[in-house]
Amino acid sequence: MAVPDLADSPPVRRLADWDDQQLRSLAATHDTPLYVIDLDRVQANYQRFSAAFPDAHVMYAAKAHTGQSVLSALLDVGADIECAAWGELERSIQAGADPNTLQYTAVNPPAHDLDYAVDLAEDAPGLTITIGATDTLDRLAERGYDGRIAIRINPGIGTGHHEKVATGNDAKFGIPYEQVPDVAERVRAEFDLVGLHSHAGSGVLTDDLEDHCEAIERVGEMARRVGDLEFVDIGGGFGVPYHEDEPPLDLAKTSEMVRDAVGDIDAQLKLEPGRYIVADAGLILTTVNTIKETPTATVVGVDASLATLIRPAMFGSYHPMRNVTAPDREPEPVTVGGPVCTSADVFATDRPIARPERNDILAIGNAGSYGYELASQFHSQPRPAEVALEDGDDRVVRRRETLDDVTRVEQ
Ligand SMILES: *Cc1c(COP(=O)(O)O)cnc(C)c1O
Repeated sequence: MAVPDLADSPPVRRLADWDDQQLRSLAATHDTPLYVIDLDRVQANYQRFSAAFPDAHVMYAAKAHTGQSVLSALLDVGADIECAAWGELERSIQAGADPNTLQYTAVNPPAHDLDYAVDLAEDAPGLTITIGATDTLDRLAERGYDGRIAIRINPGIGTGHHEKVATGNDAKFGIPYEQVPDVAERVRAEFDLVGLHSHAGSGVLTDDLEDHCEAIERVGEMARRVGDLEFVDIGGGFGVPYHEDEPPLDLAKTSEMVRDAVGDIDAQLKLEPGRYIVADAGLILTTVNTIKETPTATVVGVDASLATLIRPAMFGSYHPMRNVTAPDREPEPVTVGGPVCTSADVFATDRPIARPERNDILAIGNAGSYGYELASQFHSQPRPAEVALEDGDDRVVRRRETLDDVTRVEQ
């Protein structure tokens, strides 16, 4: 694949920047709901982010979008991959990743995940396992592992767009700050201590940077206390503007603030963005199937639901929406909901959208991250197809499921 130098790509892609005509044509060809992922934009996002951190190592956090098309597009531009479960490790390898370059972040790891990682490390000693509990060290030692370990620190400060993703002060994640030096000593005795790690939250935009950097400062301090490390990994969590009028993350400022916060360390700085790389490269196309006028709202029923995109129901997240069939119609405040039988199945309330009519195609933006990955088959709905755009072409990278896919595992 040709790899253009896209470090100068725009810092944000809004829903209105997509080609309405192309989106209508994709919906007509492939039916809806439909996930669309633009691999050129995925690569551009990675390259722009990397260019802002010239001497750091930027990995991609696979869980944001673990599709083969995305993983291989990122491997093509030199990204390494951070995984948080055994299936992500396996799928990264299937996409062409050298297992020696993978980093596995173990959060309450099930036995199967540890078995898999230890097995993998036998032939790939470059694999790094990040631990967030000494108990995980015991379980790795029991399995005969003595390889590369990074320690995940709980910095005691959480940041980001929602308390459910502010991991930096959640006891579930990482070694309590003051215990880190002792744990480091133990890791040095029994394993190969290569790094410190922290991931304090998600959805961090320019205004949240100060808080986020406080957490990073503590990681830098600990790196100096522990000393002799190959890398210091400050995680992901870099945000994208979901609202149309929100400015994008200022990468130059982010880079400068992160550098200042980490301070002087004799180790490589690593980052592992997920959302930032894929969010604005993806959207969902959905068809209007019902319009209902009520005394309190105009309710627009669509064929996508919380089974297609759960973020609004789970986090109350705002996703931009656009009528790509008739973008120039007069905007009217509407409520948009799917066919799932819960009041949480709502994409927008009282949202001005170019007046939708039955059979119009609506686009739901910023759905490239935590979209398909969190999709379900709730209501016996086969999961939708995904189309990838690349070099002016489009191809189906995940076929639409059938009811057989839903029932296959029953016996
Ligand atoms: C989820 C996660 C990431 C990526 O987070 P984003 O908000 O998508 O950038 C990075 N590192 C770890 C350990 C994670 O769990």
